Amino acid sequence: MLLNLNEIHFLLAGAFALFALGFVLSLLARSKAQDGNDLAQRLEQALPGAQCAQCGFPGCRAYAEAMAQGTAPCNKCTPGGQDTTEQLAAILGTPIPEDDNDDAIFTPRQVAIIHESLCTGCGKCTRHCPVDAIEGTVRMPHHINERECIGCNECVKTCPERCIELVRLEPTLANYNWDLKAIRVKRT
Ligand code: SF4
Ligand code: SF4
Ligand code: SF4
Repeated sequence: MLLNLNEIHFLLAGAFALFALGFVLSLLARSKAQDGNDLAQRLEQALPGAQCAQCGFPGCRAYAEAMAQGTAPCNKCTPGGQDTTEQLAAILGTPIPEDDNDDAIFTPRQVAIIHESLCTGCGKCTRHCPVDAIEGTVRMPHHINERECIGCNECVKTCPERCIELVRLEPTLANYNWDLKAIRVKRT
């Protein structure tokens, strides 16, 4: 069956319209992905960068991406505290969720301790601590400086002797999360 000229024009016009529609949709999708990426980047820049996973995500970038996609609230970064929560809410243009992180801020901090009688001084924990909170010389029992520790659990996961555990500090004024947003993060 042969097509006449009008039918050929009609088919070509339809094919062109479909192609144009696909092109526009792909541009829109790309632009939306770019917007999401930019938003995640701005959110990440507002986070403290401790990569401690206390937000429930495996690092600041993953948490920022989840917020940008609308799948995580902006009040889960314990080290960042209330200031960070407010910055994140401002970037997202959303109110701070009702269940603010007062519990996290007003609960004594968790820190790691080493059971020194079991420590072989292998030094593995020292290399994984993001804030240089572990002190000790090779083959001697190591010790954790609780003022520096942010309770990220990295050393607990690393120790081959299983002699590190996380404990909650006594509820004194000195042991709350007052200034955790000011932690120093080691650059590698
Ligand atoms: S709790 Fe805060 S600092 Fe820690 S990984 Fe999550 S976003 Fe980063
Ligand atoms: S929990 Fe361990 S690795 Fe994490 S900050 Fe404290 S001492 Fe360092
Ligand atoms: S990883 Fe465990 S055994 Fe090795 S130095 Fe640290 S606390 Fe001691």
